[in-house]
Amino acid sequence: MYCPVCGDDCVDHASALIALMPRIFANCPSCQHQPLYKTTPPPPGSYHDPCSCGKRFIDEVFAHLYDILVREGLFSGKEPLKAVGTPLVHPGFPTTSPPFLPKKSLVLLSRVADKDVAAHMLKEVPEIRGVVRNGEFTPGVTDPDLLVPPRRNELLAGCDVRADIYPTTAGSIVLFQQQSMMHIEFPRFFNPKIQAVESRIRTLSPQWFVDAFCGTGKLGLTAARMGVPHVVLNDSWFAAAFWSAFNLTINREFFRFDEVRILNDYKSMEGEPVRTDPKPVARTEGEQEILVYQGDFRKLHQVLPAGPVLAALDVFEKADRKATGSVLHYWREHVTGEAFIP
Ligand SMILES: [Zn+2]
Ligand SMILES: [Zn+2]
Repeated sequence: MYCPVCGDDCVDHASALIALMPRIFANCPSCQHQPLYKTTPPPPGSYHDPCSCGKRFIDEVFAHLYDILVREGLFSGKEPLKAVGTPLVHPGFPTTSPPFLPKKSLVLLSRVADKDVAAHMLKEVPEIRGVVRNGEFTPGVTDPDLLVPPRRNELLAGCDVRADIYPTTAGSIVLFQQQSMMHIEFPRFFNPKIQAVESRIRTLSPQWFVDAFCGTGKLGLTAARMGVPHVVLNDSWFAAAFWSAFNLTINREFFRFDEVRILNDYKSMEGEPVRTDPKPVARTEGEQEILVYQGDFRKLHQVLPAGPVLAALDVFEKADRKATGSVLHYWREHVTGEAFIP
């Protein structure tokens, strides 16, 4: 399938990725498995070429990346292995042991890499899918009042589009995103937010479900997977709204609609990175109605039905009780039904 960032064939439909889960990061009998300390430099000879099966243990891949950083002069050789950066595998899903990585399965988030080194890593390390330079901040919109300007990390080389697979009781959902634009949230075996949504849907059997700060669409698509007849996903950040719409198409086989219309493309949405008035980004036609908007949650009531809706308000910063309280209060003044912070 066509990737909206690199134009290449680096995205797949949900069922194709879900089918890979049991074997994609498993070793073959010939694979080398030599765990390395993360808090010291890797000893000489810590990495070899990938196995004949095409995979390599993640620590060896990191030792290879470390070696490139030393050769290019960005590391002295005294840094610990973990200073290479944060690995984000594709596809990400809960596992009990470290992965053996196949080709193009790793997005590296690095504080030290520059464009030259990243290009070198992409060329020399087959497991690398993309290299992102990350800073000490969270990319995207983090403030429900939209007062803090959104920031983004920088894609240095390759493509940083990758997917996470989230287990739900109705079955898995696959969520693609461009990593430099979105905050990191890795799937775990137990996801309290998904569970909170599932239990409310089971109790209330809502006709309408709203995911008002949808990110990549996790909670809204969980509700759709459970069969809620009308689902609205919304985010003020262009990348979140776009990838939610994209994920609607990726997971379409799990929903009951005939057609999905994507009304905006990624590049044109980037021209208006944060919106207040809700702009439609995608809508379905058929038995199940799923709508995606880009806009401020405070304006979303303009496009919602008068009848009751169940709304999840997944604000980024939940520790600030006063702020979350005012979000809930505002919502309840404008929309009937149940609202909760998952
Ligand atoms: Zn791509
Ligand atoms: Zn092998």
